[in-house]
Amino acid sequence: MDSIEFVELEQLQPDVLVHALLKVVDITVLTEALYSFRGQKQRKVILTVEQAQGQHYVLVLWGPGASWYPQLQRKKDYIWEFKYLFVQRNCLLENLELHTTPWSSCECLFDDDIRAITFKAKFQKTTPSFMKMSNLATHLQEKCSGMVLIKAQILELAFPILAAQKLVLNAHSSLKTIFSSLPNIVYTGCAKCGLELETDENRIYKQCFSCLPLTMKRIYYRPALMTIVDGGHDVCIRVGSTLIEKILLNISPDCLNRVIVPSSDVTYGMVAADLLHSLLAVSAEPWLLKIQSLFMLDENSYPLQQDFSLLDFYPDIIKQGAFSEAR
Ligand SMILES: [Zn+2]
Repeated sequence: MDSIEFVELEQLQPDVLVHALLKVVDITVLTEALYSFRGQKQRKVILTVEQAQGQHYVLVLWGPGASWYPQLQRKKDYIWEFKYLFVQRNCLLENLELHTTPWSSCECLFDDDIRAITFKAKFQKTTPSFMKMSNLATHLQEKCSGMVLIKAQILELAFPILAAQKLVLNAHSSLKTIFSSLPNIVYTGCAKCGLELETDENRIYKQCFSCLPLTMKRIYYRPALMTIVDGGHDVCIRVGSTLIEKILLNISPDCLNRVIVPSSDVTYGMVAADLLHSLLAVSAEPWLLKIQSLFMLDENSYPLQQDFSLLDFYPDIIKQGAFSEAR
């Protein structure tokens, strides 16, 4: 029993016991046909499983294994570790199937489990089908709504402040200007819904009526409009408060005035200003941006409205040269 190995489906041999990491693709329960197991009537559950994407195999759950059905059903499309399976030749279909044995066990692997990560890296190398690599010119031409990865340079960040005012930062903004603008890119809002709170004549913050009796306040970065450019095309994408914070290496908006170490006079605000300055510099490296785009088209496929928002960004990937691999 100690010599049992984890197998790859393509290398199955008949009549051996194996362990396997498998993605559960589909589940069928044979309710009409009942099978006898140790004198008791049992259900037979048939799983469609895969390792390499689209290459399906059959795993039959017998006896105690059939009772895994509810948990498998809940975590379909996940990667599972199955132990002590028996490889058997199906004489009718002339292929090899996996069958549970009385010793079999199963465990669902979370996405961040190293076994699941290794499985995906080995067998399912492609970027997930909902994530498409593109460039701005192609994306604007295809007018296809959805998630897309685009490598682009960041030209400008515009923070709408009040009414018609906005604060624009770009390659022409000096480090000093950016630093002195920082108080304008944060605001005090309702801790629950994020609504910007105004002050009354005594400079006391008004309450958020929709969230009463909760009256907690929080400081937020203002959402911004980011202009990106790629191959002569540029678009504006919306960047939420949390992603602005992520761009600023998670420096919390309420500690911009705080010094980093007590002995120095360098504040987190100075670091944040420096980050924005190098992000917007003419010489800045392009970023890999994960964008959600929405095109509303008329019957002639003419865009009536288009909307882009930033979902995530990956500056380091490009620097490490992994971008060309991912492509
Ligand atoms: Zn509120």
